Amino acid sequence: MSIAELFKKKKIVYSFEIFPPKRTSPIDTIYSTLDQLEGLHPDFISVTYGAGGNPADSSTCDIASIVKNKYNIEPLAHLTCVNNSRDDILEILGKLKERGIMNIMALRGDKRPDIPPKTDFRYASELVEFIRSQGGFHVSGACYPHGHPESETLVDDVLNLRKKVDAGAEHLISQLFFDNSVFYSFLERARIAGINVPIEAGIMPVLNKNQIERMVSLSAANLPAKFTKMISRYEHNPEALRDAGIAYAVDQIVDLIANGVQGIHLYTMNNPLVARRISESIASLISA
Ligand code: FAD
Repeated sequence: MSIAELFKKKKIVYSFEIFPPKRTSPIDTIYSTLDQLEGLHPDFISVTYGAGGNPADSSTCDIASIVKNKYNIEPLAHLTCVNNSRDDILEILGKLKERGIMNIMALRGDKRPDIPPKTDFRYASELVEFIRSQGGFHVSGACYPHGHPESETLVDDVLNLRKKVDAGAEHLISQLFFDNSVFYSFLERARIAGINVPIEAGIMPVLNKNQIERMVSLSAANLPAKFTKMISRYEHNPEALRDAGIAYAVDQIVDLIANGVQGIHLYTMNNPLVARRISESIASLISA
């Protein structure tokens, strides 16, 4: 089923993101993660595509296929174009189609200083259009409540997002944020710009201090005082920081649902225990 269809059937869509294990670990390590995530009944699971985008690396396709065919959960396979040519993309689309994977998260990907970007696709919107032109696929895209770090203004950012939707993206997932008011302002801008596809809120439970520093530099996310106080209070107590991080994520989700959000996308970080604690805390809200 297409992800957009799920939003017609459910009041709130609840989904997870996982990433392929490191190249040095066997792909089977993902099974124990999926064994535990399966019981939490996500509506779909998205599988990230390695930064750098090596077309020979089929782990995203392999794991998305396992999600679909072993666990009977709808997969959303991420795909980036910054380091893939048109032919590379065609080859990957062929593999996805062979395995019955029809939902693709079309991304540009981050430019890496050590790899000159390929030039067939400049923006995710061009990849969206290309995938749609092949037929048989449904396409999702990324959005940024704080604005994408390369966008000069929030207005430019939302107008470019509109191009992605006009190119055929049927559903959007947001970058992480820790201040819900930032997400609500973004939603307002998106709706004013005529973006009417379902937008899921991306929630990342914070589990350690290094993770926050990395994520914040990637996402340009400003941190609210409530959040920074929590970090400084518990930064030297990993167990307390994990518990506080879970409580913070649950608090964000409760507020988002109360404010009518259409979907919650949990960045699980391949940590099923954390996903379980969050899912159990919000189970009755998701199904209400
Ligand atoms: P785009 O939509 O192309 O936007 C990139 C920049 O270009 C923005 O500033 C935008 O405003 C601007 N822009 C877009 N269109 C135009 C236009 N027509 N004219 C001028 N400017 C334009 N990365 C990975 O490597 N693998 C993953 O699996 C992955 N998954 C992600 C999942 C989510 C939910 C999110 C939010 C991000 C993910 N990323 C992933 C990171 C993403 O690849 C980077 O944030 C990347 O820098 C931008 O990708 P994009 O698809 O949003 O790009």
